[in-house]
Amino acid sequence: MTRTVLVTGGNRGIGRAIAEAFLCDGAKVAVTHRGGECPTGAFGVKCDVTEGEQVDAAFTAVESELGPVEVLVANAGITDSTLITRMTEDRFTSVLDTNLTGAWRCARRAATPMTRARNGRMIFISSVVGMYGSAGLTNYAASKAGLIGLARSLARELGSRGVTANVVAPGYVNTDMTSSLPEQYGKQYRDSIPLRRFAEPEEVAAAVVWLAGDSARYVTGAILPVDGGMGMGH
Ligand code: NDP
Repeated sequence: MTRTVLVTGGNRGIGRAIAEAFLCDGAKVAVTHRGGECPTGAFGVKCDVTEGEQVDAAFTAVESELGPVEVLVANAGITDSTLITRMTEDRFTSVLDTNLTGAWRCARRAATPMTRARNGRMIFISSVVGMYGSAGLTNYAASKAGLIGLARSLARELGSRGVTANVVAPGYVNTDMTSSLPEQYGKQYRDSIPLRRFAEPEEVAAAVVWLAGDSARYVTGAILPVDGGMGMGH
């Protein structure tokens, strides 16, 4: 049977590539956006993941249009980097609220229908930085490390009800998020990656589709790096 997939932040970047990969795979795909253009063939629903009521309404809209969400991809995320001595508390908490609490809001809304159906996949888009750390990214790295604890707790809490929870940890990926990196840093970062290049969003999407597929049915609580070897050993 065709599965229903919901990708948060599916209007651009990695989320859009994930949505398109699921569409190619024959799934019914819904994406959340905040006003952006959605991939052709996907059901778009407006949702800011920092607002619990919008998350609830988005799931309700997807359920009535496409049926219960069987695969949740919590992808929406932001960066706001600066050194800790210059970072205001607001800049810390707003990144946490989007990247970590936003994913938690979606997981909480998805959990009851998934456990009732004894069927569900939750996939969280973390980052190599969550394990490796990065100067200037205390807020972002903390949020991405938090997703690992979130996913592994869900794996333990919901595993007996047929729901898996896994993490995909990309390294640098060519999207709007990395396009503003000054060239000197871009080169420095590329030199630190064994494969010597940034990933394309489709390469992250392929890992997500695999984790959601039948061949990954016994995989839960895992962190799947898609980082060109950057985070090896972390
Ligand atoms: P982009 O900046 O290209 O896209 C981010 C997406 O998240 C957009 O769709 C954006 O919506 C959405 N979003 C941001 N804040 C909210 C919010 N409050 N509510 C709903 N949607 C929101 O980023 P990427 O595609 O590069 O990143 C996607 C995910 O992958 C993020 O979680 C990121 O941390 C992670 N990642 C990215 C890496 C990279 O190198 N690019 C590396 C490792 C992880 P809108 O268009 O409305 O702003």
